Amino acid sequence: MGDPADHLAEAFRGLAQHLRFLQALGTRELPLSRDYLVGPVGSLRRLEAAIEGCTRCKLCQGRRTIVFGSGPSEARLMLIGEGPGEEEDRQGQPFVGRAGQLLTRMLESVGIARDEVYITNIVKCRPPGNRNPEPDEIAACAPFLEGQLAAIQPRIVCALGTFAAQTLLRTREPIGKLRGRVHPFGTIRLVPTFHPAFLLRNPGPAYRRLAWEDMKLLKREYDRVREG
Ligand code: SF4
Repeated sequence: MGDPADHLAEAFRGLAQHLRFLQALGTRELPLSRDYLVGPVGSLRRLEAAIEGCTRCKLCQGRRTIVFGSGPSEARLMLIGEGPGEEEDRQGQPFVGRAGQLLTRMLESVGIARDEVYITNIVKCRPPGNRNPEPDEIAACAPFLEGQLAAIQPRIVCALGTFAAQTLLRTREPIGKLRGRVHPFGTIRLVPTFHPAFLLRNPGPAYRRLAWEDMKLLKREYDRVREG
């Protein structure tokens, strides 16, 4: 059952996070008839409803689908890439192309099943030609990622690639300097590693070995929170 005080505190924490999300989207008035105390599943559903048909930035002009994210709402590990690619844009799911298949194998190599983690991106619409998202696009899409983090409340985040790591950690340091260690990320921890698409473009053993080291580090952190 748990302590009722803990449940109440959890409910108020969820309410506060949801109100911050609404505020970030520009909401200034709330109807009093709605139920605001929802759990992770309800929060994610609301986010998906809010993002439908989104035109908050110019990436809406070239997209076919909005790639919101996938995985269980109670996941303790969240993986965040930079943005959907061509195949993701077509299917509406994150990391489903060749890079996605490599990501699945990377996770499995350290005993993490893909269906136990939540996967999303910094921006939810494909940047044209797979270019990096621009600052105004990241800012426009940030409330959705913040909403996902607030709803799921992962204990560990893995940033996939330079761009995701730099955006989340608010730094300009290259991935080569950021990877290989655990970073504080709010009240939780963040492990950066290479984007699988980068590893496909650079298939030599050097980068693969470093990525393998990162996966082992991620697994150690993941085991720690699962056991804690
Ligand atoms: Fe909206 Fe995000 Fe897509 Fe921009 S990238 S249109 S903010 S969903």
